[in-house]
Amino acid sequence: MTITSVAPATSTIYRPSTGQAYDSVPVTSLEELDAVFAMARSGFKAWQKISGTEKGKLLFRLADRLEQLVEEFAQIEARNTGKAIRETRSEAGRMPATVRYWAGWADKLIGTSIPVGPDYHTYTVREPYGVVAGIVPWNVPYAFAARRIAPVISMGNVVVLKPAEETPLTALQLAEVCREVGIPEGVVQVVTGAGDVGAAMVRHPETDLVLFTGFHETGKIIARSAADNLTPTIQELGGKSPNIVFEDANIDEALDAAMISVFSSTGQMCFAGSRLLVQESIHDEFVARLAERVKALKVGDPEEEDTQVGPHVTSRQRDKTLQMIQSGIDEGATIAAQSTLPGGDLAEGFFAPPTIFTDVTQDMKIVQEEIFGPVMTVFKFKDDAEALEIANNTKFGLAAGVWTSDLSRAHRMAQGIHAGRIWVNTYRVINDMVPGGGYGHSGYGAEGGTETLNSLTRSKSVQIALNPGLIPGQPRI
Ligand code: ADP
Repeated sequence: MTITSVAPATSTIYRPSTGQAYDSVPVTSLEELDAVFAMARSGFKAWQKISGTEKGKLLFRLADRLEQLVEEFAQIEARNTGKAIRETRSEAGRMPATVRYWAGWADKLIGTSIPVGPDYHTYTVREPYGVVAGIVPWNVPYAFAARRIAPVISMGNVVVLKPAEETPLTALQLAEVCREVGIPEGVVQVVTGAGDVGAAMVRHPETDLVLFTGFHETGKIIARSAADNLTPTIQELGGKSPNIVFEDANIDEALDAAMISVFSSTGQMCFAGSRLLVQESIHDEFVARLAERVKALKVGDPEEEDTQVGPHVTSRQRDKTLQMIQSGIDEGATIAAQSTLPGGDLAEGFFAPPTIFTDVTQDMKIVQEEIFGPVMTVFKFKDDAEALEIANNTKFGLAAGVWTSDLSRAHRMAQGIHAGRIWVNTYRVINDMVPGGGYGHSGYGAEGGTETLNSLTRSKSVQIALNPGLIPGQPRI
């Protein structure tokens, strides 16, 4: 099959708060992509010759440099994604620790020795896959880039990373910093472009493993395409996570978390707690307090310090959120509260109003589909059983929040919820050392902590006969 590029020569970069273009980056052509993969292959050979300790040293150096660049990355990210500067600063501030965590693993990958009996010395080693294609979305571009580069290369692989076409700036900058601190050529490469470039990465014969983060329907396309070369994929997809508040919870904290879980990052989070379940005895008061908070949200220019909610990253995503809000209205849900949008210079920005829906039912599109916008649906439930039934009525299974002061109930809910991460009396706490992966349409392949050691390397066994020629239990032929 002949592959022809449909990509334009450049991607336009927009400032989402005004809708105005302010930059552009060249798009990687398919011919350039071949050169990138050839470079990755030779980079891998060179990287294999470097000890884990040396790899770790380079990553520690990277972390130190990123520490000095927190503000610069935060500013680039806020301008490019439209996310509030206070959020991009906090995300950028966490990246040095992320890189350090993975730096520490570089010289700690060990195998096992297996006592199969007196005739053999048997051991296993963990080996890197080789060339890893990382494809990431536009909602947290810097953190995704760092989380793709650091563990992948720490485990001995090399990475070809593609940020989303709308938000490539922090990933490109990060690749520069990797070069600056001395990570060898071909170990970290960033390519640019849209889905056609991503698709070419997935089917590229030099790709040994695909790490995809994004929309679940794109994940299915990628899994099908990767199957042609039997290339393994790890998929971190979307969610429609339940956040469940029981009457015995600390209500003030649950309220704060409910707000953060859906309205930070303008709701553009796979972990958004977009289905809030509140026990009936506290439901009305809880919703009334949430409504007050939503009406008071400062939606505006992400580069202003007091802005709480910025625009969507793209006009396409803003339109999707607006369509979903309309569908909620059409299907009979009630808008309990909505924020006010900014005007003036920001009138053309990609804003959609933070919105709370009540009177929702399971069959509604706003309840079943991932919105990736600042839209919360609120359910009322009677007891544990009903909470579980509502929580698990979804094709997704990424995460869930449970708010209660009853320890047994917390464990029961954690056991019953069909999702890869459960947070009790907290929400969306992401630590590099904690594993988690999706259930159902939220993906497969756990990452984080020691799970990553298994998912980014493969196990090789070596059996050495101590009495050569003898194969116990097998007749000679
Ligand atoms: P969205 O539709 O919200 O942009 P996607 O999951 O499509 O979310 O995008 C996430 C990432 O996947 C982006 O980097 C995008 O360019 C890339 N992508 C989109 N389509 C494909 C595809 N068919 N194959 C590989 N990568 C793709």
